Amino acid sequence: MRSRIILLYVVVLIVLAGQTVSFPLEQADLSPAAESAKSAPSLEGWFDRPMRWAQLTLVENDPQQYDPNFWLDYFKRTHSDAACLSAGGCVAYYPTEIPLHHRSAWMADSDPFGELLAGCRKMGMVVIARTDPHAVHQDVFDAHPDWIAVDENGNKRRHWSSPDMWVTCALGPYNFEFMTEVHKEIMSRYMVDGIFSNRWSGSGMCYCRHCQANFKEYCGLELPRTKNPLQPEMKNYIVWRQKRLFDLWQLWDAEIRKINPNARYIPNSGGGALTSLDMKTIGQLADILFSDKQARQGLAPPWVNGKRGKEFRATMGQKPIGGIFSVGLEEPYRWKDSVQTEAEIRIYVADGIANGLRPWFTKFSGYLYDTRWLDVVEDIYNWHFQNEKYLRNVASLARVAVVYSQQTAAFYGGTKAREKVQDHLLGMYHALIEARIPFEMVHDGLLEPKNIDRFKTLIFPNIAALSDLQCRQIRDYVKRGGSIVATYETSLYDQWGHRRPDFGLADLFGVKFNGTIQGPMKNSYLKIEKNPDASFHPVLEGLENAGRIVNGIYRLDVTPAEKFPNPPITLIPPYPDLPMEKVYPRQPQTDIPEIYLRQIGSSRIVYLPWDIDRTFWEIMNYDHGRLLRNAVTWATNEQPPVTVTGPGVLDVTIWRQKNSLTVHLVNLTNPMMMKGPFRELIPVAAQTVSIALPPGKKPKDIKFLKSSVTPYAEQAGSRITVTVPSILDHEVIAIDF
Ligand SMILES: [Zn+2]
Repeated sequence: MRSRIILLYVVVLIVLAGQTVSFPLEQADLSPAAESAKSAPSLEGWFDRPMRWAQLTLVENDPQQYDPNFWLDYFKRTHSDAACLSAGGCVAYYPTEIPLHHRSAWMADSDPFGELLAGCRKMGMVVIARTDPHAVHQDVFDAHPDWIAVDENGNKRRHWSSPDMWVTCALGPYNFEFMTEVHKEIMSRYMVDGIFSNRWSGSGMCYCRHCQANFKEYCGLELPRTKNPLQPEMKNYIVWRQKRLFDLWQLWDAEIRKINPNARYIPNSGGGALTSLDMKTIGQLADILFSDKQARQGLAPPWVNGKRGKEFRATMGQKPIGGIFSVGLEEPYRWKDSVQTEAEIRIYVADGIANGLRPWFTKFSGYLYDTRWLDVVEDIYNWHFQNEKYLRNVASLARVAVVYSQQTAAFYGGTKAREKVQDHLLGMYHALIEARIPFEMVHDGLLEPKNIDRFKTLIFPNIAALSDLQCRQIRDYVKRGGSIVATYETSLYDQWGHRRPDFGLADLFGVKFNGTIQGPMKNSYLKIEKNPDASFHPVLEGLENAGRIVNGIYRLDVTPAEKFPNPPITLIPPYPDLPMEKVYPRQPQTDIPEIYLRQIGSSRIVYLPWDIDRTFWEIMNYDHGRLLRNAVTWATNEQPPVTVTGPGVLDVTIWRQKNSLTVHLVNLTNPMMMKGPFRELIPVAAQTVSIALPPGKKPKDIKFLKSSVTPYAEQAGSRITVTVPSILDHEVIAIDF
């Protein structure tokens, strides 16, 4: 009976998916094992137990030169309760009997994996085995040339960094057959708790004969020679590749569960809008997952680690998510044997913890050339261990959420997804950080009431590609009292990236698209307008005496379909910026609103027909940040769960645990905030924190989890105010009930 209900549910999902949300079309096509895992609460397994992960990735000569006891002792000193250890794939660290499974040339008759595993088990640790199937040696090439990836010119691909090795095809028999045997052998010999694969999903497009034949069988087309997602072969490829990989995941998972039903296959997967594997399906398949963004690189604030926590949680819910951090550098030149500054490690890990990630350190090479990181991680992990009960979050109490959309990136963004999609999201994200508004993220494939009704406001930073169903779900959310803030081309395209004649959400925005996009604009402005009574709309808070602020770079020409009296900002069109004698506005005033504000019942709608979020990310104009903050605050229209007043830039999150509430404050204030690494931690001055108490809860105790100072707190009604005298990198206010 139970399985029939599940089956019916799957059929309904497939029907819904077929009609509407289609990224990928097959997302409901799960194996029976995955279905039963979905229906059973996953937290009953081992998955929720580990809070601190340790990963040791051995290099091939480690068996001869490293000291396993050093590592076992380090795991113990750090209170690591789970480990990920190298087992097989490109190099086997156990006496495998599978032909062509390359044993470490330095292990002789030993079993390095088995020895470490035994040591971890003695300490009661969860252990998962790591495999890496992306590269093979010459003997594999000679025996099975068809297992090797092929480039678009028909050449088999040598490994880009280790030229004596070959790159494998992820979607053919090497993974489906050979690696299945490897995973079965590891599981049957060691009965590990899981198998985790790195680089399991391929190294770019493969044109081998298996991929050609399988793709043709799937859709009748040749493999794409274009990256344009509007071409049928590329559109089909995007969907087919995911189907192949989800099939592979479910195959490996099913095979190891036949041997050990408590084990799971855990692929190294997941991320945000630019991730090519559907996060909704990942969230359905995975009982536990790890975010593999190991450090900052290039221009990036430390909040990128916390962002991954939010993106994963959007589809994983409260299932455990490990936050992998390398203590090393993550720049493209790949120095793997040196380490980051202490301050950088601390701020990066703190932001992950503040955003619900369970710390997971990863070190490549069992022999250490640079040991500076050891004490730092030990100190962080010890703090984490001592405060574990306050870090086992049950729910985020954020009332605002930012939507992210992989289909928008894949089909509307295409090869320009970074600027057309991701930069909007990053700008919005940074504006919310600066505004100190705690927020979560929502996957656009999960817009059902159970996923979004805990939020008062959903933000759509240029979520251009939305299906009719998704638009209906958003409309229903507004009918139920939800507010929305949307920018630029949100809903102007369908889920496959085809432009609609008008916004899918035109009725909510109250405007129609005229078919014209203006830009790139130079020297265009926004005029700050007063109400007839000389007051200013709340979205202009802090901008009242500005007169005008700078415009974005692109704007959509829209016509109001509703009445928008007294628009707070209006367009000043571009005018020449040279010669200087000619720099004067040809049209100093228009009546064209550049923000559309509506109230429908208790719901508020903000639509900005320009690229405010993307421009903010590009030029970081503070006026844009304030306008975004004010727009979200106006739309949300309620007392926030937490406000934090004081100098600096903080990442603020608020959580409920079983018997407590926590507010995390991560101090990002640093000259190296936008580009790491931090050289030193610089304390920020006092912050006043006002926290809403959950209904009916009386605080028993309030403490800081980092500082030894006893907090001074005042309660007024249902809010409690705490002054935090100073924050070095991270402070947590914990309220026990
Ligand atoms: Zn292939």
